[in-house]
Amino acid sequence: MIAIIFGPPGVGKGTQSALLSEKLNILHISTGDILRKAIQNKTELGIKSSKYINAGELIPDELITGMVFDAIKNISSDNGFILDGYPRNIAQTEDLDKMLLTFSKKVDVVINIVLSDDEIIKRILGRRVCDLCGRVTHVDYGAQMDSDVCEVCGGELKTRTDDTAEAIRNRLKVYYSQTLPVLDHYRARSIVMDIDGNRGKENISADILAIFKE
Ligand code: ADP
Repeated sequence: MIAIIFGPPGVGKGTQSALLSEKLNILHISTGDILRKAIQNKTELGIKSSKYINAGELIPDELITGMVFDAIKNISSDNGFILDGYPRNIAQTEDLDKMLLTFSKKVDVVINIVLSDDEIIKRILGRRVCDLCGRVTHVDYGAQMDSDVCEVCGGELKTRTDDTAEAIRNRLKVYYSQTLPVLDHYRARSIVMDIDGNRGKENISADILAIFKE
């Protein structure tokens, strides 16, 4: 099964992809996570990417497409994978189709998580990420309001460098102008499933899981 978890920034794609990956035992490929790791490790990709990420811009396609191809080319299992954060524009969508065709595969399902801009901004501004284990928490919903220490691994909880009010505004603008058209591409193939993102993560996860069990 090749699935795309789709939706605006901050909607919970990472959280839902991780839950799904665990429950179905399939690989989760997050372009955002790969890029953040590259920045942390100061690789060439990381150095080239950080200015785009901090401004809330998309990273140039030629950097992203090679990175995704590297992530999927060694996948031997027939279990498939979950893509989170890719494709993010029409050129990437066409690149992905071509990539998958070389393996005689195609995207099977696109899970589109829907949420209002107001809620998105609230969520992103309250998001804290552990710099060691990557666990994501929220100052309003998590139990960690008074602490900067991750209760799972003891790492430091930080605000992502692109979770500023200005970068979020730009990320939403980029989402509506460049990323949303990707959905029309997949709607034409009748493989998009819309999911209400304005609920607790377990409820959302149960709905997504039900789609995979159909
Ligand atoms: P979010 O979905 O919360 O905005 P991600 O972790 O998916 O966050 O991505 C963070 C940033 O990484 C994006 O704003 C963008 O700069 C960059 N990025 C991630 N995936 C892509 C992609 N497919 N194409 C271009 N840039 C990307």
